[in-house]
Amino acid sequence: MLSGARGAMVSPLPRRRAALTRSLDSFRVVLVEPTHPGNIGATARAMKTMGLTDLALVRPAEHLASEAYARAAGADDILEGARVCATVEEALVGASLVVGTSARRRRNGEDALPVRRLAAVAAAEPGEASVAVLFGTERVGLSNEDLARCRHHMVIPTDPAFWSLNLASAVQIVCYELRMAVTEARPLVTKHADEPASAEELDYFFEHLFAALTDLGFFLPGQENRPHLELRFRRMFTRMAPDKYDMGMLRGWLTRIQQAVGTRGSRRPGGSSEAP
Ligand code: SAH
Repeated sequence: MLSGARGAMVSPLPRRRAALTRSLDSFRVVLVEPTHPGNIGATARAMKTMGLTDLALVRPAEHLASEAYARAAGADDILEGARVCATVEEALVGASLVVGTSARRRRNGEDALPVRRLAAVAAAEPGEASVAVLFGTERVGLSNEDLARCRHHMVIPTDPAFWSLNLASAVQIVCYELRMAVTEARPLVTKHADEPASAEELDYFFEHLFAALTDLGFFLPGQENRPHLELRFRRMFTRMAPDKYDMGMLRGWLTRIQQAVGTRGSRRPGGSSEAP
């Protein structure tokens, strides 16, 4: 059954995307709580100069303020076309690879990849879903929760004594590197046979995982370190870059666990994936 369902894996034909890179409009810039309209305008300008178009703003400052238009310097279409979202989840709908930018090289014990390497990885991400790059709020950057959603962390290498760039400057460098990665594309071999899982599918999986762990008694009521453990689980599975088939397999596995402990099917967030 497994090999049948996974027939595409042994196909001698390369996947359509395998030897191609992405188009620039499949990259999404996500600003999480940008507090200066000027930075939002300058972000629109940075994107437009590099040919990116997809901008999402999570709980932004007034993004159509005159300061934003002034700094957009004509990139009004990007600014006005920006999607304003209430949550990071909403901004990630339709994305598979999610990358978090951080001014710090090591965060939560994880190494961030330098932007040039990450741009090559992003350009090689297979499938039709978007690649989203998250940028943090000016004063404190991305939260640990937001970083835990990211398969990779990316850093722009700087002088070690002075490492924090202006938000829009960071966006400019990332967009430039993405453009270079796409335009200087070499044939790439991808490790996925199936489409990568989307951010929503990952969220459903985590909901399901945490429900199953509760049913199992791994999480106990009022357990203090639960948020910490949930973050660690999120990071671990996100690092694995699961594809859609992997998600179905893991969801099926969780459902069987719930059946075995007697909570059969009672909590199956997102419900659509079936056990393979
Ligand atoms: N004080 C914050 C920095 C926030 S700067 C901190 O210590 O993390 C605002 C945002 O700009 C960051 O969240 C990140 O998205 C981006 N940024 C700034 N400098 C960067 C760098 N060197 N590498 C990658 N992203 C950077």
